[in-house]
Amino acid sequence: MYEGRTDMEPGRVLGHENLGRVQDVGDAVDRIKVGDYVCLPFNVACGYCRNCEAGLTSYCLTMAPPGSAGAAYGFADMGPYSGGQADYLRVPYGDFNCLRLPEDAEEKENDYVMVADIFPTGYHATEMAGVQPGDSVVIYGGGPVGLMAAYSAMLKSAMMVMVVDRHPDRLRLAESIGAIPIDDSKGSPVDQVMELTKGRGADRGCECVGYQAHDPQGHEHPNMTLNNLVKSVKFTGGIGVVGVYIPQDPGGSDEFAKHGEVVFDFGLFWFKGQKMGTGQCPVKRYNRHLRDLIHVGKAKPSFIVSHELPLSEAPEAYKHFDARDNGWTKVVLKTNGTKQGTKRHTARTN
Ligand SMILES: [Zn+2]
Repeated sequence: MYEGRTDMEPGRVLGHENLGRVQDVGDAVDRIKVGDYVCLPFNVACGYCRNCEAGLTSYCLTMAPPGSAGAAYGFADMGPYSGGQADYLRVPYGDFNCLRLPEDAEEKENDYVMVADIFPTGYHATEMAGVQPGDSVVIYGGGPVGLMAAYSAMLKSAMMVMVVDRHPDRLRLAESIGAIPIDDSKGSPVDQVMELTKGRGADRGCECVGYQAHDPQGHEHPNMTLNNLVKSVKFTGGIGVVGVYIPQDPGGSDEFAKHGEVVFDFGLFWFKGQKMGTGQCPVKRYNRHLRDLIHVGKAKPSFIVSHELPLSEAPEAYKHFDARDNGWTKVVLKTNGTKQGTKRHTARTN
């Protein structure tokens, strides 16, 4: 969206990872009260459609644009909802969407805000891949989501977690939580995974890069991480894909890419009997549990936060993050409200 590769129109407010204190509620809101500290799933969901009732809030039919499923704050092709990189955020269906935070909310704000998207999304990648205690897991992508997938695999007692990236700051963070950093600029990541797993391949793999995957020389290959995963994961292993792929990419590098078509190694995927899960995370499936792990001190996802900045510095932060500048692993943007002294609204770049 930031790079202009979606049909996001100029002037729309970004920010789908939101946390803050409730300032006002509408007539239909019963449960949530003014003053509650809440974290919001990036999914905007109604709570009563066929998909929401089945727990698939990332594919809500009511809030999505016609003919589609799934809505989000400040997101291309996911409805008209404004994002939270603003002084205030409007939350539809407040009772259903707000997750109330406990009394340590302010103190652990940088942890709880990860529950809006990237912590559940990383966790969802490990769920779709089928990660169980004792598994070996390879994560492609050491950005915020990839690090959260690695962290989730560690929380699930994976035997070994490998994180493939090439940025030293990200690889250091992966190492800091006990994962094995794999630098794909220093040799084939597939070979390195094979060596670490004694030639078998990882039990499970997570894709946390998306269609903008590029090689160490900077050339974009939308199929790169997917095909590397098929090669890196064992026969009958599972793959979870939370990296973003899109149906149309007019700025794509070739005719396939322009139509969202990825040259995927389906032959090897089938031959190896692997399975794959894809798509956006239904945040509500996980957010209470992850919130509670933070509350009792068993999870501290804020380890990825490199910068806390006022909203006014967002343009600079976007530049640094988009350029993958060293040390800009995750930015938390904060606003301090003026109307009521207590207001703090948080949103972040991703
Ligand atoms: Zn719904």
